[in-house]
Amino acid sequence: MYGCPDLIRFCGPFFFDHRTGRTGGTRRRPGLRFSFDRFAVKIENMIKEGWEAVIGMEIHAQLATETKIFCGCAVETGGEPNSHTCPVCLGLPGALPVLNSRVIDLGARAALALGLEIQETSVFSRKNYFYPDLPKGYQISQYDKPFSADGVLNILTAERDDSGHAVDWRPMAIGIERMHLEEDAGKNIHEGMPDTDKYSYVDLNRAGTPLGEIVTKPDFRTSWQAYDYVNHVRRALQWVGASDADMEKGNLRCEANVSVRRVGETKFNNKVELKNLNSVRFMQKAIEFEIERQIAAHEAGEPVNQETRLWDEKNNVTRVMRSKEDAHDYRYFPEPDLQPLEVSAEFIKRVKSEMPELPDAMRERFSAEYDLSFADASQLVTEKSLAEFYERTAKASGDPRVSANYILSELLRELNAAGKTAAESPVSPEGLGELIKTLGAGKINNNQAKEVLTEMFASGKTAAEVISEKGFEQISDVAAIEKIVADVIAANEGQVAAYRGGNEKLFGFFVGQVMKASQGKANPKVVNEVLKAKLG
Ligand SMILES: [Zn+2]
Repeated sequence: MYGCPDLIRFCGPFFFDHRTGRTGGTRRRPGLRFSFDRFAVKIENMIKEGWEAVIGMEIHAQLATETKIFCGCAVETGGEPNSHTCPVCLGLPGALPVLNSRVIDLGARAALALGLEIQETSVFSRKNYFYPDLPKGYQISQYDKPFSADGVLNILTAERDDSGHAVDWRPMAIGIERMHLEEDAGKNIHEGMPDTDKYSYVDLNRAGTPLGEIVTKPDFRTSWQAYDYVNHVRRALQWVGASDADMEKGNLRCEANVSVRRVGETKFNNKVELKNLNSVRFMQKAIEFEIERQIAAHEAGEPVNQETRLWDEKNNVTRVMRSKEDAHDYRYFPEPDLQPLEVSAEFIKRVKSEMPELPDAMRERFSAEYDLSFADASQLVTEKSLAEFYERTAKASGDPRVSANYILSELLRELNAAGKTAAESPVSPEGLGELIKTLGAGKINNNQAKEVLTEMFASGKTAAEVISEKGFEQISDVAAIEKIVADVIAANEGQVAAYRGGNEKLFGFFVGQVMKASQGKANPKVVNEVLKAKLG
């Protein structure tokens, strides 16, 4: 339905570069991308006919609060180990948790951005397990009464062709079971410290960091659908300011539950939980590998165990980590130190009123209001700062379509080459708007405008400054052009007679002479008009 007309756009509405953490067109650097995609597509094509994959996703997103969920310790990465801790997040006896209200605000924003219903009452529960990075012996999470539930999220997804191009973007509704709120655990450190051959270390700075855990229904059938979904969620959370959602920094982590079955079957076979997926790419590759492994096992009559497997990125395989726990292994029970969380209709109304316009709504508005194609509008809403940049440029220039063209081709190329986002662009939307206005007024031509933009980007100068430095100003003044035309006619009597005698091909000769006499600065449109009038 929605083709991708060129390299920039093929990246599609939800492109995200896992290496740089940026959305936008960085993927146009072909090397890495293509080798990666080919690998994945090759595997995907090997999926045996008659089988289908059943995939559900779990995403842990760190909510962008300044302090932890149940105490006042700062949420910061990189500090001295165990420096951001207190009796609450260390789990010392007698310490009582107090819910951080900012978590509710950001959780509500996230829930609304993902199409979830916020529940009037939700309950925090203890999830009991032992692990050295969890000193309390339980994690405060939510179980049977989550913060939000029953969502339907409309994403766009595309199959990829043999060379890794996204083709045929189309909408897909994903059922979101729930998003609950919980605290993160600390970290066990097994390397980079003294004697790590003998000891492991525990850093509890991360313990108590607020998370939203987003769980989908098993609605995905291909790894690319899961890939497009994760990118959609990433962008949505960043868009509303609920989470930085940066996988490289670990503040967005995803897990995939994968099983396979014969087409037409309705029951689910044993599923495998995939972890250690450090990028959306690795996740996609891990799912592909797992689908193939499970089909081969089923066909050989071998068991597929319910277990957790890790992605081994060196060898491109998944490996068993442990057998999977069931919910009853955790012995959930309501957290006695916290009240049930009540959320009023007024609160939800207030959060809704503070939400920015969401990307899908913005894409539709751009198409309607500015007459942009689906592909262009989609590309402009890949990132909030890009969408805002566009809208300011469109207003400043008065020409929304030319603004879209210049941003999607010229500006994005400069931004990608410089590794910058639209928010970091050295050319402001108003500066670009001025350039587009100058172009629209016929003072410079298209090629000159592109050259001016490159120079503005490199030097930070205004369009007017660069145009005057380069001597690009077009002569559009009719009187000035009439004078040049008169000189050209006087100097070429023979050609004038021939033209008037019927040799119309000579018109181009006169245009060339006038352009030459004006050192290329005469506005060609005005030159044509004046010449036609004078030559008769
Ligand atoms: Zn604390």
